[in-house]
Amino acid sequence: MAELEGLEFGKSDFVLLDEVTMEQFMDNLKLRFEKGRIYTYIGEVVVSVNPYRQMDIYGRDTIDAYRGRELYENPPHLYAVSDAAYKAMKRRAKDTCIVISGESGAGKTEASKYIMQYIAAITNPSQRAEVESVKNVLLKSNCVLEAFGNAKTNRNDNSSRFGHINNYLLEKVRGGGTSNNDRSSHKAVMSALDVIGFTQEEINSIYQILATILLLGNVQFESDGESVQIVGLETVNHIAELTATDPESVSKSLLYRTVATGGGEVIEKGHTEQQACFGRDAFAKALYERLFGWIVGRINSVIEVKDYNPVLHGKNTVIGVLDIYGFEIFDNNSFEQFCINYCNEKLQQLFIELILRQEQGEYNREGITWQHIDYFNNQIIVDLVEQPHKGIISILDEACLTVGNVTDTVCLDSMDTKLAQHPHYTSRKLSPTDKTMDFQKHFRIRHYAGDVTYSVEGFLDKNKDLLFQDFKRLMYNSANPVLKEMWPDGQLSITEVTKRPLTAATLFKNSIVALVDKLACKEPYYVRCIKPNEMKSPVAYLGLLENVMVRRAGFAYRQHYARFLQRYKMTCEYTWPNHLMASDREAVEAIVTQHGFQDDVAYGHTKLFVRTPRSLYTLEQERAALI
Ligand code: ADP
Ligand code: MG
Repeated sequence: MAELEGLEFGKSDFVLLDEVTMEQFMDNLKLRFEKGRIYTYIGEVVVSVNPYRQMDIYGRDTIDAYRGRELYENPPHLYAVSDAAYKAMKRRAKDTCIVISGESGAGKTEASKYIMQYIAAITNPSQRAEVESVKNVLLKSNCVLEAFGNAKTNRNDNSSRFGHINNYLLEKVRGGGTSNNDRSSHKAVMSALDVIGFTQEEINSIYQILATILLLGNVQFESDGESVQIVGLETVNHIAELTATDPESVSKSLLYRTVATGGGEVIEKGHTEQQACFGRDAFAKALYERLFGWIVGRINSVIEVKDYNPVLHGKNTVIGVLDIYGFEIFDNNSFEQFCINYCNEKLQQLFIELILRQEQGEYNREGITWQHIDYFNNQIIVDLVEQPHKGIISILDEACLTVGNVTDTVCLDSMDTKLAQHPHYTSRKLSPTDKTMDFQKHFRIRHYAGDVTYSVEGFLDKNKDLLFQDFKRLMYNSANPVLKEMWPDGQLSITEVTKRPLTAATLFKNSIVALVDKLACKEPYYVRCIKPNEMKSPVAYLGLLENVMVRRAGFAYRQHYARFLQRYKMTCEYTWPNHLMASDREAVEAIVTQHGFQDDVAYGHTKLFVRTPRSLYTLEQERAALI
């Protein structure tokens, strides 16, 4: 619980609400935001509302005020959790991770930058050169990853969709203008690449690949009804030059695919115009993804940490900062939203689990009896999506790998048959009276955050988003060693390529499962970002009320005895100005008893635990009246 902030700013921790209702939550959030308080806690979780204007709260003096302090000693701030994460790593040698979530434009990337700046500012007080250079690389890498990770999306054209799991969702980059802004950020990226230690050859390769991606956007096909041709060969020549391959091979990989027949024979099959377009787009996207993955890998190898976007590492300990997209509900929800929302289900599950575990751990350490907390476990929704054989991803994959004319609608039928009994799944066929859904295309999932209706149109194609092996081979055979390095799978011969290639949804699932496993063994800190114009729905999506309830189910507030005394000793005759008792704990007992809430507390080894916020509130009011 944060202190040093008057009640006129609202409650600095949502656990102090009189009642956990959406109304009270929103009132408090709005009040604080209007008063310029963009951060509020739920225990150790920071809820952040994007101010969309420069705030004077990130300067050196603020950094100093938070440095080495406990969470409740200052008003809520990103710096306070950053410091907590840092202390956990230093004192307890724990790997920690700061998970930043929220929808596009909610302030995740900005938050991650402030966190990194804070950690960079407080580390290495003796200014050791090698540490400084690693820090420099990290701060610079932010700018590079951002430049490459920004893909235009339908929501916010500055949304960063990079990271392990986001790679899939990078949209194809197309040519754009070069505004002044682009030029200055281009300069920054160049200098950053240099600082990070990319060689000139590597930097050249990066630009050649980006140019190739842009050129692929210009490749057009025409069909005379029999075979498909590329319109104008200059582009192909140019691509061959940039990728250090030959024009014939480039043309061939754009127009044909090599397939192994049942008898083990290898034949070349011409694309239809549509297949050629599809292949070209998939190739452009894959080039971008591999480039991005390679850049991340190079940065990580420079700083010798295998994790994505790590801020700092001491002796085998890491603070990771993870910036991930939040729950999405649009008017028309497709495969992308399905993947994103599944990801959020997984993270929500981990979130509740880890918060419960953290609480449990704290109670154990302090010798306080743990009590069962009832909460909604969204495992059932996660299963609906990912369960082998029965889950939606499996059904999709099966449809994709079936030979013959399986359409999106056929796939929907199959889902309806297999999932008819699932309490979180429905469709028009299963709820015939619900006219908001179409028989041919809609299904609905009851997510923990609310109902989302998805349109299956395009699901199969997007799930099949497979890159023809021919492109991989083309790149692997490039004379440019950087490019070759990015495409090691291009050396497989066609007969070696698996018969059942992994689909987009399965790849996505695998990367999320890996991410969750990784996070599960770290000590997590959370930042939940919200946009000011639409605060209410994200509060629901992010499960914030649930979070407050979990936090309050046991003890809403806990405080070291000495600190508690320091703050409240003036409210009790036996402790003011100093107590004469055998221990701080006894002195705290005197205060609690004098105020009559002895039934509302538990005494831990080093901390006082208070069950309901009201007790503390009374104490706070009394204190305010005295000072
Ligand atoms: P996200 O990564 O969640 O998509 P960003 O972090 O890029 O969102 O934030 C979008 C924009 O909102 C930023 O470009 C910036 O203008 C503004 N913004 C976000 N956080 C802050 C902040 N703490 N202070 C001032 N402006 C902010
Ligand atoms: Mg971002």
